Amino acid sequence: MTSDKAQPALVVFDLDGTLAQSKRAVDPEMAALLVRLVSVVRVAVISGGAWPQFEQQLLGGLPGGDWLKRVSLMPTCGAEFYRYEGVWTRVYSERFTEAERDHIIAALHKALEVCAFDIPQIWGPQIEDRGGQITYSALGQHAPIEAKSLWDPDMVKRRKLVEVLGPMIPDAFARLGGATSIDVTRPGIDKAYGLRQLEALLDTPCERMIFVGDALFPGGNDYPAISTGARPIAVHDPEQTKRVIEAICACLE
Ligand SMILES: [Mg+2]
Repeated sequence: MTSDKAQPALVVFDLDGTLAQSKRAVDPEMAALLVRLVSVVRVAVISGGAWPQFEQQLLGGLPGGDWLKRVSLMPTCGAEFYRYEGVWTRVYSERFTEAERDHIIAALHKALEVCAFDIPQIWGPQIEDRGGQITYSALGQHAPIEAKSLWDPDMVKRRKLVEVLGPMIPDAFARLGGATSIDVTRPGIDKAYGLRQLEALLDTPCERMIFVGDALFPGGNDYPAISTGARPIAVHDPEQTKRVIEAICACLE
């Protein structure tokens, strides 16, 4: 029997690729497992995606009810924080100013000219202003998962783009996002920042958090979470996340 101090007090999940397939909604099995998990420990979800993506990908697949009061949501890597008070309420938001946003988008266009990627087909807009985060998706926002998984599987293209763009935007920070995307935020806003915010807002030390993500490798958008002292659990896909949730439930129930 572990001591109470070692018990996890919060389980934090990445969204895309961890709770749900890229850009798809959580499935009914995942929804049921999250309800079960919340009965034994508080839960948070942190993602590079903006609030509308949380509504579509997460909340659309979850049952309503008071259990949601034990769930915290952090869109755009924790640049925003939402909690449930009968309705989802935004507690804070750190957005780019218009001038900052215009500068970043102009720099992004220049960097893309330098990189000169071969992109045969585009599905929807490539650049998305998410308030606290600007995201470039090489194949467009609505690209099918099959096409996305083929475009940059070794991350070479996205790493090049980040390398070219970085020096052009000294007041912001670019990193790899989802399968074909890079995210630009204020410097210091990453998943570690999000976990530190949770630590303060929920009065729960990072050491008592478990972080579950599909990009915990160096350069991945979940990687910064490790630096906080949260216990990382790397998964490949939502199916593996389900097994992790079952295991946590079995330990805590
Ligand atoms: Mg992910």
